[in-house]
Amino acid sequence: MYSHAFSILFVTFLVLTLAVRFWLASRHIRHVLAHRNAVPAEFAEKIPLAAHQKAADYTIARTKFGMLGMVVNAAVLVAFTLLGGLQWLSVEVYKLAGPGMGYQIGLLVAYAAISGLVDLPFDYYKQFGLEQRFGFNKMSRGLFFADLAKGVALAAVIGLPLVWVVLTLMDKSGGLWWLYAWFVWSGFQLLMMVLFPTVIAPLFNKFTPLADESLKSRIEGLMQRVGFASKGLFVMDGSKRSAHGNAYFSGFGANKRIVFFDTLLSRLAPQEIEAVLAHELGHFKLKHIVKRIGMMFAVSLAFLALLGWLKNQLWFYTGLGVDPLLLPGASNNAMALLLFALALPVFTFLLGPLTSLSSRKHEFEADAFAARHTDARDLVSALVKMYEDNASTLTPDPLHSAFYDSHPPASVRIRQLNLAVH
Ligand SMILES: [Zn+2]
Repeated sequence: MYSHAFSILFVTFLVLTLAVRFWLASRHIRHVLAHRNAVPAEFAEKIPLAAHQKAADYTIARTKFGMLGMVVNAAVLVAFTLLGGLQWLSVEVYKLAGPGMGYQIGLLVAYAAISGLVDLPFDYYKQFGLEQRFGFNKMSRGLFFADLAKGVALAAVIGLPLVWVVLTLMDKSGGLWWLYAWFVWSGFQLLMMVLFPTVIAPLFNKFTPLADESLKSRIEGLMQRVGFASKGLFVMDGSKRSAHGNAYFSGFGANKRIVFFDTLLSRLAPQEIEAVLAHELGHFKLKHIVKRIGMMFAVSLAFLALLGWLKNQLWFYTGLGVDPLLLPGASNNAMALLLFALALPVFTFLLGPLTSLSSRKHEFEADAFAARHTDARDLVSALVKMYEDNASTLTPDPLHSAFYDSHPPASVRIRQLNLAVH
C-alpha cells in the first residue's frame, strides 16, 4: 500500500516539476522575444542592437533546447523506474555477476553507461549545433571525443574506489553507516578541492602563470590591499574549447589560485581585470566559499541520514519499480543509492530558488566589495563586455531569473554598482 502511495507521490512531484519548468521556460522565451527589438535604455550606448538580438536568439535557442532535454530526461527517468528499466538491468547484471560487490558495482556502471549514452547526442548537438551556430564553439570533434574518453577514465579512477568504499560501509558497518559514509564523502570533497586545480583541470587545459608584468603588479597591489595571499595567478587556454570567457577562483589554503580564461584577458582592459578579480576576492574575503562548503556538508549529512532510513523501507524500492533482491548474500545497497540519486532531484527541485537566492545575495556582496577596493565603473564596463561577449540576455524573465539564476540580472547589478559610484 505504501508502495502505491509512494509511486503516486513520485509521479505527482515529477509532473509538478515538469510543469513549473515548462511554464518558466515559456515565460522566459516570451519575455526575451518581447524585448528583442530594443536595447534596454541603460545599455543603449554600450551594446549595439545586433549584439542584443544575438543574445536574445541565443537565449531562446538554449531555452528551447533545455525544454527538449527536460522531456527526454523525464521519459528516461520513468523508463528506468516505474516502467521497470532498473529492474531489468538488475536481473541482467545479477545473471552475469552473481550476488556481492561485483553485482553492486556492475549495476552502477551499467546505469552510468546507459545514461551517458542517452546524454551523448545532446552534448554533441549542444556543442556542434547550438554553440557552433552562435560562433561559440572552438572545439574540434577530435577534442570533443578526447575529452569524453578522459572524463570516463577519470570517473572510473576516482569514482569506482569511492563507490566501493561507500558500498562496503553500507554492507558492513551497521546502522550508522550513513554517518561514516558522510565522513568519507566530506573528506573526498575536500580532497577534490585540492586535486581539481592541481591535477584534474590540467588534464583538460593548459595553465600558465600570468606573464604580463604590469598587469601582474597591478593585481598584486590589489591582493596586498585586501590582504589576500595566493600562490598563483593563472591564465587558462579556454579558447581551445569555447569563445565564452570567465574568471574563477579555486582550491583553498595554500592551494588557492585565481584563474583567468585567455578569452577574458584578451577583451578586458587592465583596470577591468582588476575589478573582476576584486569581485572574486570578495567571495573569498567575505567567507562565501567557506559558507558554501559548510552548507554542502550539512545538506549531504541530512540526505545521507534520510537514505539510511529509506534503504530499509520496502516501499522505497517497489514504489520506484524495483523488486529488491531477497536472496541470501545479495545486497540492495547499490540499488538504494541509484534510486535515491534518481528520485532526489524530483523531490527537491522546488527548493532550487532558495539556493539561487543565497547565491545572488553573495554576488551583491562581492560586487560591493569590489566597489570598495577598486573603481565600480570598471566592474560595470567589464560586466557589459562579458554580457555582450557571452550573448547573455539583458532582459531575462524576472520569475525565471529568480528561480534559476545564481547571478542577479545585469541591469540590477549595474544599478547597484552605479549607486556605489555616486
Ligand atoms: Zn561572483
